[in-house]
Amino acid sequence: MIIVLESREETHVATISTDDLKRPEPQALSSTLERLAARFGNRLITSQAVRDQHAHTTTWLPPQPPDAVVMAQETADIQDTVRICAEHGVPVIAFGTGTSLEGQVNAPAGGVCIDLRDMNKVLEVHAEDLDCVIEPGVTRKALNEHLRDQGLFFPIDPGADASLGGMAATRASGTNAVRYGTMRDNVLALKVVRGDGEIIKTGTRAKKSAAGYDLTHLFIGAEGTLGIIAELTIDQAARHPRNHRGRGLLVRDGSRRLPGHDSGDPDRYSRRADRAAQRRTGQGLQFLLKIVVAGDAASAA
Ligand SMILES: Cc1cc2nc3c(=O)[nH]c(=O)nc-3n(C[C@H](O)[C@H](O)[C@H](O)COP(=O)(O)OP(=O)(O)OC[C@H]3O[C@@H](n4cnc5c(N)ncnc54)[C@H](O)[C@@H]3O)c2cc1C
Repeated sequence: MIIVLESREETHVATISTDDLKRPEPQALSSTLERLAARFGNRLITSQAVRDQHAHTTTWLPPQPPDAVVMAQETADIQDTVRICAEHGVPVIAFGTGTSLEGQVNAPAGGVCIDLRDMNKVLEVHAEDLDCVIEPGVTRKALNEHLRDQGLFFPIDPGADASLGGMAATRASGTNAVRYGTMRDNVLALKVVRGDGEIIKTGTRAKKSAAGYDLTHLFIGAEGTLGIIAELTIDQAARHPRNHRGRGLLVRDGSRRLPGHDSGDPDRYSRRADRAAQRRTGQGLQFLLKIVVAGDAASAA
């Protein structure tokens, strides 16, 4: 079945400049803040200092602070905030750790920022299946600290200690991307609060599924424009370089151990493994070259 979303003679690509965004009516904004204050008490913050902290500063774009910040602690907090804001046409901006570099957490039309740092629980770890279920405010370093004892690690490293929710929302990559892929390759499923407050689950822990639309990948990289990620099922993708007894290394693509390394540092392991792979590739190429040269010599003779 093909669904025709729009039928026009000309093809249009819709773009919205942030300059065109309108701030909500003052009455709508004050009603929203009143209702949020009644719901969240001191977890609704309107002080200038906190609002400024939630505007973007690591970019050439000037900071554009929100009108208020809600400190979410559970999915219901996200839902209620989104619902109240939607009723009054007030924008909502999700906030992980604010390390994104292109002004993503700016609030060009004001609105309410939902800070997810307190939703930072690792809910389930399935070590045998190499996956885990986490809240969006878990940072990548905290996750790796949690997984370490179970011989696992999460390989995506964008440099900053970003939240996994923010990393999924920006489809983060980093120094290990060539070996382990990006967030696109390491998220199995999401729980998302949509713009109307409805919750959807985009998948399961199953590594393979051909059922339905691939909604998980629609939300990865959407930068919070399609909904707020309230839970992630992460595919850890790799065993920690050190085995459980700390006696050397488990190599991901085989059982061979790389000698002389005992730091347990995944990045260092990764570099070492990459060099080993490069050496193998180099040896392979030399071998291939020898065959070609030998072949040429034979045909010349
Ligand atoms: C020194 C440095 C180096 C970096 N190097 C890299 C790099 O190599 N590769 C790379 O990819 N990135 C890199 N980054 C960028 C940055 O780390 C990523 O953009 C990061 O993934 C953002 O995560 P965050 O938690 O800080 O999200 P935030 O900055 O808080 O938010 C980013 C966007 O995601 C949205 N968002 C946040 N949480 C959620 C949620 N739960 N649900 C829905 N939307 C949400 C926000 O609204 C915003 O639009 C680097 C940053 C720094 C400071």
